[in-house]
Amino acid sequence: MIVDVHAHHHPRAYNEAIAPLYPGANLDGLARFPDTDDEAHIAARLELMDEAGVSMQVLSPAAGRAPYGADERTAVRAAQLGNDANAALVERYPDKFRSFVSLPLPHIAASVRELRRGIDELGMVGVNLHISVLDRSVAEDEFLPIDDEVDQRGGVIFYHPCNNGICSPLITDYGLNGALGTSLEDAAIVLHLVAKRIPTQFENIRFVIPHLGGPIPMLLERLDNQFSMKHRRLAEPPCVTARRFYYDTVAHGSHAALLCAWKAFGADHLLPGSDYPVLLAHETYARTFSWIREVDLPAADIDQILERTAPTVLDLGGFRR
Ligand SMILES: [Zn+2]
Repeated sequence: MIVDVHAHHHPRAYNEAIAPLYPGANLDGLARFPDTDDEAHIAARLELMDEAGVSMQVLSPAAGRAPYGADERTAVRAAQLGNDANAALVERYPDKFRSFVSLPLPHIAASVRELRRGIDELGMVGVNLHISVLDRSVAEDEFLPIDDEVDQRGGVIFYHPCNNGICSPLITDYGLNGALGTSLEDAAIVLHLVAKRIPTQFENIRFVIPHLGGPIPMLLERLDNQFSMKHRRLAEPPCVTARRFYYDTVAHGSHAALLCAWKAFGADHLLPGSDYPVLLAHETYARTFSWIREVDLPAADIDQILERTAPTVLDLGGFRR
């Protein structure tokens, strides 16, 4: 059973609700692919899932689609509307979809309320946090109440880049937000969480990082040497903390990247993701998973990555194929 933990969904009403939060943005950018809750889009999505052998998608918003913004009323309305729409889709297709709850950040009290509603009332499997909120890392102290709530529930946080070029003109001026910036965001949130010692403070949270953690698998030894020189009060070496996290397989088919992550983290810390529908511009949805079977890994580890890690991490024990 393949559970795609990194699948985006943008209900029509949600796109309209977040429009004031992203003035000037082209929110129709993904609509050439089936990513809304229009009936035709849902039917096409289900067909693609069947073709790919994907039993279930776990839904969340893509970069630039989180319900984040300075205006609290707009953010809260968008988050509630999106979460309600996702919950309705899960209720309609309980064997096909689950959802992460999205939060109206940076409004902490409202976000904690929405988190409780999402997990406790709507039955969502975890929380989606985009890596920064109005250019503040979500590892900053003001976001700790979110970690505390998830920790109390023994839940999952699925992080996602926000495509801001990591606030660097060295990225944005060269048009590298997607090609490089998102991988740097992935790596940055891992290291921010390590620096803040959040995984050792909140040991009940399962942290899921997208895109194999960007360059993190290549850096573990370097981090133990150089990161530790700057952060002397860590509870454990950075490589140990980095191995507490789970990482999705979105790698644009790179065998080298998956081999490196497998070596760094182990098959039981890798789980399937597609970045649906973003990669449909480059390859079929089925291909987003089938390439993993062609990587030079032990067959048991490929099965672990594709079929076993995600149901355990997401606690889908009662899930039926
Ligand atoms: Zn994505």
